[in-house]
Amino acid sequence: MQDNSNIKILITGGAGFIGSNLCDYFLTQGYAVVCLDNFATGFRKNITPFLENPRFELIEGDIRDKATCERAVQGVTYVLHQAALGSVPRSIQDPVTSNEVNVSGFLNMLVASRDAGVKRFVYAASSSTYGDSEALPKVEEVIGKPLSPYAITKYVNELYAGIFSTTYGMETIGLRYFNVFGRRQDPAGAYAAVIPKFVMQFMNHESPVINGDGQFSRDFTYIDNVVQMNALALQTTRPEAVNTVYNTAYGDRTTLQDMVYLLRTYLAEYDPVIAQIPVVYGPPRAGDIPHSLASIEKAQRLLGYQPQFSFAQGLKEAVAWYWNHLPQLKK
Ligand code: NAD
Repeated sequence: MQDNSNIKILITGGAGFIGSNLCDYFLTQGYAVVCLDNFATGFRKNITPFLENPRFELIEGDIRDKATCERAVQGVTYVLHQAALGSVPRSIQDPVTSNEVNVSGFLNMLVASRDAGVKRFVYAASSSTYGDSEALPKVEEVIGKPLSPYAITKYVNELYAGIFSTTYGMETIGLRYFNVFGRRQDPAGAYAAVIPKFVMQFMNHESPVINGDGQFSRDFTYIDNVVQMNALALQTTRPEAVNTVYNTAYGDRTTLQDMVYLLRTYLAEYDPVIAQIPVVYGPPRAGDIPHSLASIEKAQRLLGYQPQFSFAQGLKEAVAWYWNHLPQLKK
């Protein structure tokens, strides 16, 4: 293992789905990792294995608190900012809290990082920034109008990061994540993402409900591709590759119907009863865009990104993980 222990990375939201996978990867690469999380939607169990590692530090705190952000960035070289309240429906239900965390909390982290002389600030942006633009594939420079409070907060993040680059000379990179899925993504709760939610429903022998006719499509992106993008964003030394945003996706799209059928097929390898469970169709959901497909050309050209997992390969891995962790998930 490389000795990167003199390089400290702050991962905000490190107890969440994507954040805990980033903690895992960068610890494996020999870095010192600080996780800042208030466990709003993240879990202690996601980071329990890291607590014994002397290179791992947990700061339990809230990014809405400036002093906490200032404390967390001490001695930090890179920030991977993941902390936010995800989910479009959550932001429709409570736009004020989403804004406080996703915008004010983001700004607190930017200011604290600037003042502490952090080398680079890499942050979780979102494909929701494409809003009502119907162009496919999505290219970074062509966006539409936001369709939800959540999308506004994520776009504001990009605007602030851009201003901090031009005004204070801070290095920033935004990663527009497209429907990420994989190990440790929470299957429970009203705001669960579609893949883990359907996995649990199938495992409980319940019919999953597709919003709409199943012909909406998404560029479902396996977590390991997202980890690779974060590593590339953090490590790039090309001046033209920083102070910009990148689609973070596989670069292909799958309809909801095909996703659910493939999921059922993979799960039925573990439990044959699942093959017989019918899929139910419900009304479309507010704020959902019909199709989403990323161009990954910019990430390939400027960062050397090469996604390692197709949707089907990633889904197989995810299903195996959920199956092996079913007893803990049902607790
Ligand atoms: P997640 O909910 O699992 O992780 C978010 C983490 O942030 C949680 O651990 C949560 O406890 C923490 N957090 C929330 N509010 C906080 C606060 N005030 N202070 C400190 N910590 C706080 O979600 P995720 O899917 O891992 O998402 C990570 C990031 O990626 C988010 O910024 C999200 O908006 C973005 N994103 C995710 C997807 C996706 O498909 N999962 C897509 C686009 C963008």
